Amino acid sequence: MHQMTLAEIARGLADKKFSSEELTKVLLARITQLDPQLNSFISLTEELAVEQAKAADARRANGESGALLGAPIAHKDLFCTQGIRTSCGSKMLDNFKAPYDATVVAKLAAAGAVTLGKTNMDEFAMGSANESSWYGAVKNPWNLDHVPGGSSGGSAAAVAARLLPAATATDTGGSIRQPAAFTNLTGLKPTYGRVSRWGMIAYASSLDQGGPLARTAEDCAILLQGMAGFDQNDSTSIDEPVPDYSASLGDSLQGLRIGVPKEYFSAGLDPRIAELIQNSIQQLQKLGAVIKEISLPNMQHAIPAYYVIAPAEASSNLSRFDGVRFGHRCENPENLIDLYKRSRGEGFGPEVQRRIMVGAYALSAGYYDAYYLKAQKIRRLVKNDFMTAFNEVDIILGPTTPNPAWKLGAKNSDPVAAYLEDVYTITANLAGLPGLSMPAGFVDGLPVGVQLLAPYFQEGRLLNVAHQYQLNTDWHTRTPTGF
Ligand code: GLN
Repeated sequence: MHQMTLAEIARGLADKKFSSEELTKVLLARITQLDPQLNSFISLTEELAVEQAKAADARRANGESGALLGAPIAHKDLFCTQGIRTSCGSKMLDNFKAPYDATVVAKLAAAGAVTLGKTNMDEFAMGSANESSWYGAVKNPWNLDHVPGGSSGGSAAAVAARLLPAATATDTGGSIRQPAAFTNLTGLKPTYGRVSRWGMIAYASSLDQGGPLARTAEDCAILLQGMAGFDQNDSTSIDEPVPDYSASLGDSLQGLRIGVPKEYFSAGLDPRIAELIQNSIQQLQKLGAVIKEISLPNMQHAIPAYYVIAPAEASSNLSRFDGVRFGHRCENPENLIDLYKRSRGEGFGPEVQRRIMVGAYALSAGYYDAYYLKAQKIRRLVKNDFMTAFNEVDIILGPTTPNPAWKLGAKNSDPVAAYLEDVYTITANLAGLPGLSMPAGFVDGLPVGVQLLAPYFQEGRLLNVAHQYQLNTDWHTRTPTGF
């Protein structure tokens, strides 16, 4: 049962082959049995899950239908869940029970999805390895000595290990696409504003975007359908109709213009990954796509710009955790300043503290023009590069990551080495564009992802290209040994 995709589950439930309650109990037992190896969950919500599953079964018995009605999922632990711990991977929020549901959580619950639990993540979504979590590192089911990627490493490891079919995640600089690549999943970061950020604990508000992690493009379409849409509680949410994503999965790729940026194949890319990317290009050519070399000349400036903008926004967003309003409070403060200092010093881990300091520095008088303003100008140049490229092509294709998943601990002493791994993903966040990663093969037994980027609101195009590719390849069907 645990091998089924969301699409298969929807068919099975519609055909009354099993109930949501049965499936939910099977998956909860599987999580209890196997997750100790992975550490992909921070909280399990067993009672809520069984209650939601029973309610979904009752709705089906009353004639209701829907792809998500009775579908088991989990939420990254930065989506607020009413009355349930929402930790954001931090000691700061270990004792925090959200007073309301995030819009994404509420929408999926209304569609009948069943919440099995809350998944592990890098603290406040800062990281690419899921090693900064206060709840401990997550292991990659493909090789337990390796990281699953981050920051949505818990969602990725759980779905890859067949503990559940799909999970929500968020992507500020690659946190959906990079863990998808590292664990052989399909993950989609939507256009900025497509999915509501209300109730999603903020890291860098101008970059954060929620999206689906699943095994197939077909499943990402189903989950995105339940997440996307205008929300008046989020001022950057876009009031555009949500297309039927599953209906866009049947389009031919004949004549599809795919741009391959020449800057992507620089010295930093593992040559074995480059070869797998070439194979996927050939596969798409066989399906009728036309390949064109393009250029994204400002790509080299994207990492430094991102690592000024994201920490700057984080330093502002995280100022709300002051030991007074929510979260951790130190024992016996001597005065207000001591309360702030010790609560924050104890509650935040080293990576979060590093980024708050970098961000506060970049925003301070005297440095604002030199760093923050400059980074914003680079951001515009990065966006302009994409706008020029999309005049000539329909999709941009390249690797998701320069290397496969690294060993646990390998980059802990050198944060910049980890930041450099984000080179292919962060440009889409800076520009606000949608991006998808899908399985493209293996290097030393570790999965490799190919990334597709599209113009604003063309999530349907990304999902269709990935679906056509998955109809003709079987990388996405491979299962990690032991799971
Ligand atoms: N690795 C990037 C960072 O640490 C992206 C994280 C994310 O997308 N949340 O900022």
